[in-house]
Amino acid sequence: MTWKKSCILLCFITLIGLQGVLYSKENTPSERAKDKLQTIIFVNDEFVSSRNLADFKPFLESQSPVVTAVMCSDSRVQPPSLHDNPKGRLFTIRNIGNQVASNEGSVDYGVLMLKTPLLLILGHTDCGAVKAVMKGYADLKPSIKAELDTINIDHAKDEKQALINNVNSQIEIALKKYRDLIDSKDLFVVGGIYDIQNIFGYGNGALVFTNINGLHSPDQISKHSLFEGLEKAKIIR
Ligand SMILES: [Zn+2]
Repeated sequence: MTWKKSCILLCFITLIGLQGVLYSKENTPSERAKDKLQTIIFVNDEFVSSRNLADFKPFLESQSPVVTAVMCSDSRVQPPSLHDNPKGRLFTIRNIGNQVASNEGSVDYGVLMLKTPLLLILGHTDCGAVKAVMKGYADLKPSIKAELDTINIDHAKDEKQALINNVNSQIEIALKKYRDLIDSKDLFVVGGIYDIQNIFGYGNGALVFTNINGLHSPDQISKHSLFEGLEKAKIIR
């Protein structure tokens, strides 16, 4: 066999082998899990080697975030779409349906202990938790049902309104908890929807504001002092 033929054969065998590996990676849960774990290890390794002590120094022993963000656990909703460098700045609480109600302790920690001046309640389009509340969830596991029980869509007729109503109702809980801080302007509670599907018309991935301190008409939001001068804010219309 010539050197050239050997080389072609070797390439062919390698290609077949590679296809097998790629196929098997998507084949079983354990292979998919291992593949993703490998990605996490690789990405973290790259992260560690591209940083030095100076990058961590401001955060070694304390944090001073500015935002307590209550977000859905949905994998499509991620902090980098809200902040170019969320490290040390966003204190995030994540659960199904972006609830204050089911995670009061964590929200209290952000607002009362870390004293973030902004509490953001962030819903998102195509939210499985909100859709479950709309269609009924009696057949789900008790642990999941218990967490969906605290979502209030206030008899919304469509998904868009259900998302807004859920954010509004979570904000109502926060308003009762933190009334003094809000009245003294030490805390602002802002509601919004991360629009994966572009149903609000500002573009896929847009953050659309739907509430400020319990005010939820477009006029009230745009005229609120917090939004003054923020021309690029996308306000529900
Ligand atoms: Zn969700």
